[in-house]
Amino acid sequence: MQIAVISLFREMIDGYLSVSVLSKARERGIFSVDIYDPRDYTTDVHRTVDDAPFGGGPGMVMMCQPVFDLVAECNPPKPMIALSPGGRRLDHSLAVELSALDGFTLLCGRYEGLDQRIIDQLVDFEVSVGDYVLAGGELAALSVIESTVRLVPGVLGNAKSSSDESFADGLLEYPHYTRPASFMGLGVPEVLVSGNHALIAEWRKAAALYRTLVNRPDLIKARGGLSEADERILAKHGYSYKVSE
Ligand code: SAM
Repeated sequence: MQIAVISLFREMIDGYLSVSVLSKARERGIFSVDIYDPRDYTTDVHRTVDDAPFGGGPGMVMMCQPVFDLVAECNPPKPMIALSPGGRRLDHSLAVELSALDGFTLLCGRYEGLDQRIIDQLVDFEVSVGDYVLAGGELAALSVIESTVRLVPGVLGNAKSSSDESFADGLLEYPHYTRPASFMGLGVPEVLVSGNHALIAEWRKAAALYRTLVNRPDLIKARGGLSEADERILAKHGYSYKVSE
């Protein structure tokens, strides 16, 4: 997978991708990241990338010329995705879609954002990481990269790690516990130390359902509510709940 990032702050992207699981995946050639800085494609001595908005108002706008020239010269991989608070919300299904691609480019805005002509002419779609405003697209781009690349086979040590996780089957994940079995008088659910793997799997499903019912009832609704089997295992494992309207 070939990823390109267009950013005025190369070091933010490079720094984050130089550690942990993404760095290892990069070293193993599972994905590559090329970072392009629009400032390298400016034509004036001050290397200007922004200007005041037509019509007045606060802040500065990222100019067309450096980004258009960068794209013409470097031909970064399509689709071109601009990070924007107004874009499609990043979620698990978008990460799955992106993880199936051979590559894509992430265009990070700064200041008040990009000149609309960049979006109209060069961008295939926009992505948001949530209903709040960041100072720039870099954190958002890194969220897109990490959520996507960790779904590519071979990136995580254990392939089941990502298929078991929250959202993979429309539910939040079940809770985890590790040694010791008793810590400051706090135990762990007995079933987890029973050695009965079928029962453990069933408890995990019940715990995932319960956690989703409590924290994200919208996800239960999106699955069409609880099935009879869901209700049965919730009751069997002692979870009582009330489905909110
Ligand atoms: N003036 C813009 C608005 O009100 O929608 C906000 C611009 S923001 C300060 C600068 C850049 O940060 C944006 O161009 C975008 O690239 C990035 N950004 C900010 N919030 C974001 C979000 N929630 N999701 C994705 N990108 C975001």
